[in-house]
Amino acid sequence: MAVQWAAEQLTTYLAALSATGDRATMLRCAVDLAAESLEAEVVAYVEGEDVPAVTGYPSGRAPVGTLVELARARSGAVDLPGLGTVTFHSAGLDEPGARLVAARTGTGSFTDDDATLLRGMARVLGLSLRASEQLRHERDRRTDSEREAADVRDLLRSVEERQELLERLTRIQRSITGQAPLHEVLDSIVVGARELTDSEIVVLRCVDPTDPTTLVVVATHGDVSMLPRELPVGRWAAGRSFVEDTLVVGDPDNLPEGFSAAMGAPVREKGVPVGTLTVGSVTPGRTYTRPEQETLSSFAAHASLALSEAHTAEALRGALDAARHDALHDVLTGLPNRALLRDRLDHASARAKRNPRDMALLFLDIDNFKHINDSLGHDAGDALLVSVARRLSELVRPVDTIARLGGDEFAVLIEEMASEAEAEDLANRLLHGLAEPVEVMGRQVEVSASVGIAVWDTLGEAHDLLSNADLAMYEAKRAGGGRGVLFEPGMHERTMARLDIEHELRPAIESGQLVVHYQPVVEISTGLVSTFEALVRWQHPTRGLLGPNEFIPVAESSRLIRALGDEVLRQAVAEAVTWPADVHLAVNLSPRELTPDLPDRVAGRLAEAGLVPQRLTVEVTEGLVMADSDAFAVIDQLHGLGVRVAIDDFGTGYSSLSRLRSLPVDILKVDQTFVRAVNTNDGLAIIGAILALGKASGLATVAEGVETPGQLRALTELGCDYAQGFLLSRPVTQTAVRELFGSSLIPAQCVEAVGLG
Ligand code: C2E
Ligand code: MG
Ligand code: MG
Repeated sequence: MAVQWAAEQLTTYLAALSATGDRATMLRCAVDLAAESLEAEVVAYVEGEDVPAVTGYPSGRAPVGTLVELARARSGAVDLPGLGTVTFHSAGLDEPGARLVAARTGTGSFTDDDATLLRGMARVLGLSLRASEQLRHERDRRTDSEREAADVRDLLRSVEERQELLERLTRIQRSITGQAPLHEVLDSIVVGARELTDSEIVVLRCVDPTDPTTLVVVATHGDVSMLPRELPVGRWAAGRSFVEDTLVVGDPDNLPEGFSAAMGAPVREKGVPVGTLTVGSVTPGRTYTRPEQETLSSFAAHASLALSEAHTAEALRGALDAARHDALHDVLTGLPNRALLRDRLDHASARAKRNPRDMALLFLDIDNFKHINDSLGHDAGDALLVSVARRLSELVRPVDTIARLGGDEFAVLIEEMASEAEAEDLANRLLHGLAEPVEVMGRQVEVSASVGIAVWDTLGEAHDLLSNADLAMYEAKRAGGGRGVLFEPGMHERTMARLDIEHELRPAIESGQLVVHYQPVVEISTGLVSTFEALVRWQHPTRGLLGPNEFIPVAESSRLIRALGDEVLRQAVAEAVTWPADVHLAVNLSPRELTPDLPDRVAGRLAEAGLVPQRLTVEVTEGLVMADSDAFAVIDQLHGLGVRVAIDDFGTGYSSLSRLRSLPVDILKVDQTFVRAVNTNDGLAIIGAILALGKASGLATVAEGVETPGQLRALTELGCDYAQGFLLSRPVTQTAVRELFGSSLIPAQCVEAVGLG
C-alpha cells in the first residue's frame, strides 16, 4: 500500500467515525474500516483485558485472551484459531491501555507504511471516542429540556467543526496526492490550523537536519515578526511539544512577547517527532479550550501524515537543506560564507584547545579589484570572483575550509598544520595559482592578490585569528600587493598609530603643522636647479617630523587628501613667486585629488599668488592617467591652463611606453628602482630604453633617486636631461632653498670624472 494513500484513508476514516452515533457503532465501524484498509483478516479494539470490538470472528467467538496478548506484544507472528499462522501489528490510542491490533494470514509482515496507517487510525479513533464521550457527559449533566436544546446546539457545532476539520484535511490531502508544490501543502496546513483553532498566529517548525537542538520555521501564518526563526528545542510550548512528543499548552507566564496564549502539538514523520505545529493568540484574555486543543492535536497528526508522505518529506528536507545552505554559503561562488567560517573557526579552536596543534588562517584580498570591476563591468567582476573561487578551491586541500567573506575577500582555514611554514607555503601557492591569467567573459585578466597569514596560538580567541589575518593582509596591500605577509603583534600598534594619524591630521592641517620641503631637480648639462619639487612633511607636536609615507596613505583613504593637497599648493605657490623667474615648482598630486574642480582650484591658487601657470609642474603617477578617463580629463584641463605635467615614478605602473605620445605629458620621471639598477647590464639596458623612448616621444627625462657619482655618470651617458637625488641635494627647508640658487649642485668628483658642470 502506497503511503500517499494514508492521508486520504485517514480522512475517510475520520469522516466515517464522526458520522456514527454511539460508542459501540463507532468501534465496530473503526475495526471494520481498518480491516478493509489494511487488508487484514482480523482487527480488534483492545481496552485493558477487554476486546469491545473485533472483526474477522463471528460475534462471541473471538479469542479475547490471545488478542489482548497480541496487543501487548505489539508485533510478531502467531497461530490464531481458525486462521493458522498470522502476522500482527498493534498501535496505541492516546488513552493508556487502549490499542488497535491487526492480523493478516500468511507470513508477509506489516510494512512501515502499514504501521503508519494503523498508528494514524488509532489516533483518529482516540480523538473520535473522546469527542463522543464529551458529548455524553454534557448530555448527562443537563436537565431534559436544557439538554435537548444544548445537545442540538453542541451537535450542530461539533458537526460543523468536524465538517470544517474534514474539509481542511481533505484540502491538505488533495494538495499532497495532487503532488502540489511543498509551499502549498505547508500553507494549507498553517491556514487550516489558524482557522480551526481561531488563532492569529501559526508556525510550523521542523528540527534542523544538521542541528537537532534547533527548530527552524518552515511555514507561518499571521505576523510572526516577534518570533525567532530558530528556536531551541524545549523552549516555549512549541519547543516543549517537540521534546515531550505531546500537546503542550503554553504557560501564561512564559509566552513569547506579545502573546496571550499559545499551544503546540508535535508533528511526526513515521511516528518520530520531527517538528511542531504551534498556534498562538495575541487577543488579551484568550485561552485555548479543550476541544480546540484536541483539534490542534488531530490536525497536527494529519499534518504529520502530509509531511511523512514521500515526495513532501523529500521536498521538505530539500527546503530545509536549502535554507540552511543559503544561510551559510555565498550565493555567487557557492563557497562557505563568513558565518560558516566563524562557526568552523569556533569548532576548530575548541578542538585545538583540547588537543593543542597548529592552525592558521589566510586572508586573501584581490588587488585592484575595484578597478577591474569599474573598467570591465560588474558582470565581469562577478565572473572573475567565480573563477578565482574555483581556482583557490583547487589549490587548497579538501580538509581546509575556503570561504568568501564578501566583496573580493576570501579566507582559508588550515586546521591540520605541521608547521608555520606550511601556511606560508599555501599562501605562496595561492598567489602563484592566481598569477596565471583568468579568462573572464572571453578576456584574459591577470589577477594578483594580497594575503595575510595569522597563525593560531592556543591562548588567543578564534575571532582574533580573522582580524589578525586581516591586519596582515592590509600590510601586504600597503607593501604593494601581490604578496603574503605573516601577522606579528606589532601590527596592532601600527594600526593604532594609523588611526591616531587619521584622527590628528585634520586639526594638524588646519593649525599649520604641515610644512613643505623642497628638493632640487638639477639640469645635468649645467648643474643648476631647474625645478624644486615640493615634498610635504608634518611637524608633529610629539612624534617629530613625519614623512609623507606616514600620513599621505591615511589622508588618501580618509578623504583628507584634498585639504592636504590644497594646503601644500597654497604654501608652495606663495614660496615659488619669491624665487628667480627661471626656477620652476613641482607639486605631487594623488589620484584622489584629480576631481573635476581641481583645474579651477589650481588656477585660483596661481592667480592669488601671482605665479604664471608655466612655472608649475604637477606630478602624477602613471597608472591613473592610463586607466581613469575622468582623471585623464582633469589632467588634460590642467595642461590646457599651461601647467606642465610630469609622470612620476615611471616604470612602476602598467603603462606602455608607446602610449605616452598620446598623453598630455611633458616630463618623464624615471623611478628610483631603475636608477639603482643602472650598474647592472640589464638595468642599464632598461633605463636606456626608457630614456630613448621618452626622448623619441618629445619628453624631458628626469632620473629620480640619484645617490652615487657612478649612477650620474651612466645617466649622463644615456642622455638623461635632469637628475634628482641625495647626491645633488636632499630635500631642504624653505629657507635653505635660497642657498641653492645660481651655483652647480654637481659634486666636484663628478665634474672631474665626466667633465660636467
Ligand atoms: P616622489 O614624488 O617620488 O618624491 C621623491 C621621494 O624620493 C621623496 O620622498 C624624496 O625625499 C625621495 N628621494 C629623493 N632623492 C632620493 C635619493 O637619492 N634616495 C632616496 N632613497 N630617496 C630619495 P618623500 O619626501 O618621503 O616623499 C615620498 C612620496 O610622497 C613622494 O614620492 C610623493 O609621491 C609623495 N608626496 C610627497 N609630498 C606630497 C604632497 O604634497 N602631496 C602628495 N599627494 N604626495 C606627496
Ligand atoms: Mg614626485
Ligand atoms: Mg617619484
